[in-house]
Order: sequence, then C-alpha cells, then structure tokens
Amino acid sequence: MRYLVLSDIHSNLEALEACLRAAGERYDEAVCLGDLVGYGPDPNPVIDNLGALTSKIIRGNHDKACCGLTEAEDFNPIAKIATFWTRQDLTPKHTEYLRALPAGPVPVDGFQMVHGSVADEDEYIVGPGQALVALKALTTPITLFGHTHHQGAFMLSSAQGMRSAHGSSRKDGCILELPIEQDTRYLINPGSVGQPRDGDWRAAFAIFDAGGKKVEFYRTSYDLPRTQAKMKDAGLPEPLITRLEIGR
Ligand code: ZN
Repeated sequence: MRYLVLSDIHSNLEALEACLRAAGERYDEAVCLGDLVGYGPDPNPVIDNLGALTSKIIRGNHDKACCGLTEAEDFNPIAKIATFWTRQDLTPKHTEYLRALPAGPVPVDGFQMVHGSVADEDEYIVGPGQALVALKALTTPITLFGHTHHQGAFMLSSAQGMRSAHGSSRKDGCILELPIEQDTRYLINPGSVGQPRDGDWRAAFAIFDAGGKKVEFYRTSYDLPRTQAKMKDAGLPEPLITRLEIGR
C-alpha cells in the first residue's frame, strides 16, 4: 500500500492542487495529519477536496481553533486574526466537519498519525532533543507527524542511535528517498502543503510506501501569486502573505 501523506494545508487550495497533480498515480490512499485550515484564503474548498480524497484525517490546532473547539488563546495576534477570518468564512457544514475530526494518535495499518506528537497533539517536535524523547516513547515503529511545517524524518535504532534526514534539492519532484529499515523507529514529517517553514517555499508532501518499505519526500512549485492575491482580497494580514514566498 502506498500512502499519500499530507499535512498543514492551511486553506491553501493552489498548493493542495499542485501536490495532488505531482503525486499523480503514485499512491493508493491519502492520509492527512491536520491543520486543514487557518492562515490561507480557501478553507471551504480545501475541506471539500480533502473530504473527497480520504476519511483518514486527524485534526490540528488550527482546525480546533477555527471551529471554536478552542479559543486560540495561545496563538500570536496575526494567527488569531486569521482564525477569526476563517471562522467567518467557514459554512456551518464545514465548521461541523472540523468539529468532528478525531484527535491523534490514530492507528492505520501498521503506522500511526499524529498532528504534534503521540503524547500531545499540540506539541512541536522541532529539534533532535525533542525528537529523541518522542522516539524513545514510541511503541509502534512508524509515526507520521506534522505541526512544525518542517519536512524530514528522525530515526532511532540501537545499532545507529538517533539520526535525522531531510532533502534539499531545488528541482521539483522527489527530493529524498528514505528506506524503512528493520529494528528502527521513525518519526516522519511530510512537511507543510500550504505554509512551509523550512526555508523552501514550495508545497511539501510525502509518499509512504508500506510494501516497498520506503518514504519519498516531494516538493512542488504552485501558483503562489494567485494564493497571495486571494489573501490580499480577503484582507488577511500582510505578514502571512509575505511569509509564503520565503517559506518561513
Ligand atoms: Zn500547521
């Protein structure tokens, strides 16, 4: 089974469509690790697209805030403005859809999905220190996570200790192929579809090939000017529009 792994779409329809085009026929089933909405200009169409693509979707912190399950009290002022804009824009049907999304961890066929970490759906696993703690606590070999908007993987084995991996190619397409090895625990982050923060503006996703025992990390360019124009029209905060082009 080959899984298309999407995370942190953040209402960016152009980026989502570009990922689906780039993934083409390379997968059998899609999964989504949360943060469908928040920041971007197209929450309703993004939910429609993902809902039609798969039912294997967990919620992120922005999904919770945008449907009113939380009050966004820990969000910065700009993220709060985007949250309130999204609440206004969501139809009642789409708000209900977000409210019904399950919290991670959710097990799927030999791996599990979380938004932040297994211990806490809102925790950021950014650096190797946090990753090591999280890897040591894992009881299942493969965990897919998002939330940080940083594409890559952390691995732990008794033979090689902890390692990390991330691609850096400027060419669109598969930028890193990571083999899944025996006796190793993996934390795999597909990166963010709609608001990358690892210094590369291009939309990110991964394909987890469970049978072929590998993960492929992809980057793909998308129609960024169109997304930015829509955000401007919507009156979303300027820093959110600008950050998309630097990928931070
Ligand atoms: Zn996010």
